[in-house]
Amino acid sequence: MSDPTRFILNESDLPRFWYNIQADSPIPPQPVLRPDTLEPVTPDFLSVLFPMELIMQEVSTERFIQIPDEVREIYKLYRPTPLLRARRLEKALGTPAHIYYKNEGVSPAGSHKPNTAIPQAFYNKIAGTKALTTETGAGQWGTALALAGNFFGIDVEVYMVKVSYQQKPYRRVMMETYGARVFASPTDQTNYGRSVLASDKNNPGSLGIAISEAVEVAATSGGKKKYSLGSVLNHVLTHQSVIGEEALKQMDMADEYPDVVIGCIGGGSNFGGIAYPFLRENLKNGRKTRLLAVEPTAAPSLTKGVYTFDYGDTARMAPVVKMYTLGHSFVPPSIHAGGLRYHGMAPSISAFYDAGLIDAIAVKQKPAFEAAIQFARAEGIVPAPESAHAIRAAIDEALDAKAKGEKRVILFNLSGHGNFDMGAYEAYLGGKLEDYEYPVEAVHAAMEELPKVRIPA
Ligand SMILES: *Cc1c(COP(=O)(O)O)cnc(C)c1O
Repeated sequence: MSDPTRFILNESDLPRFWYNIQADSPIPPQPVLRPDTLEPVTPDFLSVLFPMELIMQEVSTERFIQIPDEVREIYKLYRPTPLLRARRLEKALGTPAHIYYKNEGVSPAGSHKPNTAIPQAFYNKIAGTKALTTETGAGQWGTALALAGNFFGIDVEVYMVKVSYQQKPYRRVMMETYGARVFASPTDQTNYGRSVLASDKNNPGSLGIAISEAVEVAATSGGKKKYSLGSVLNHVLTHQSVIGEEALKQMDMADEYPDVVIGCIGGGSNFGGIAYPFLRENLKNGRKTRLLAVEPTAAPSLTKGVYTFDYGDTARMAPVVKMYTLGHSFVPPSIHAGGLRYHGMAPSISAFYDAGLIDAIAVKQKPAFEAAIQFARAEGIVPAPESAHAIRAAIDEALDAKAKGEKRVILFNLSGHGNFDMGAYEAYLGGKLEDYEYPVEAVHAAMEELPKVRIPA
């Protein structure tokens, strides 16, 4: 075994703890505000939407949080996930760089999202929740929550962004296979959905609108239904830390350490999941790994947005947090990487980016698909359009290393497979895919609708 390709951990290596970056963050946390009063939220307010255990994790500064046995049992269906060295891609690029990828596409849902869906369903189950409501863009999060709800006997209602609902009928069928109910958002089932349709009956939907609908249903259920969010929040990024914790061990097996860690970024969960354990090593153990978040030019919250307080959803029902945002009324162009179409960004990622502890770039849709095809032809896996953004950046790093004649160790997160995204690949292969660049003027116009928050110094 002189040239191993796959680095496989044993079941007994499955992490027993999630890593919570808040324990090591050099940046004081910013307040989370009620959308109605703009005063700091209380557990009371949040408990309408979330079970207490998740609220505690949201504000926790404990470094390691124990993973319940019930969650580890289900993780074992697909974790630890493999780390691969992309030897064939390296050869195709003729690069001296070593490229590694963590394959989160092996989960039953096809992405990293079950890593948080499973514990969220578990904590809701033990809190007595009967049903969970949520939104989904590309369908990955809805699938993950449908899977997890099914395991714990909780009903799941998914508000799916209408354009994705139309582009990806089989994602809907997969959610229904696990027992979930799926609605094309904006729907006529909620006050907010009806108000959107009244002013624009062809509205293609957005994550912000779908979140508003799912939140409304939970908030008006008299406590029977809670709401579940697949990204952005601290507890979600904490659950995703299993990716990076495993990857640290696997890089050790490979006897290498990454110079750069790359992830695509929508709300920030798969990037935070792989990057935060490496950020800990940077902060505490003198490592100097570059952490690179890759977003689409169609929804460039980090590279073009403003770091300020904004609502988490379009209807202004979700809490107000400090983050990089394009404005809560932002409706992104209908790119195929549906999971990256969010107006904001995880507050922790935003804070680290603002402090210069992580880097970000934006990538156009066509070059992302070009990289995805190159990866598929070299490594065999058809990546999710979201993950294609990370692959673009990884390939560009490898080509840069080649140009400079450097050996560089590159690690990226393959956040999901693209087996349900054949419509997108068909469009790309047929020359029908367009690039979108979000105009900065629109961002500035959207800033006028921001909440007028005054934080005491
Ligand atoms: C949802 C999703 C993303 C984007 O969400 P993050 O929270 O930023 O990780 C990326 N890749 C895949 C495959 C997804 O399903």
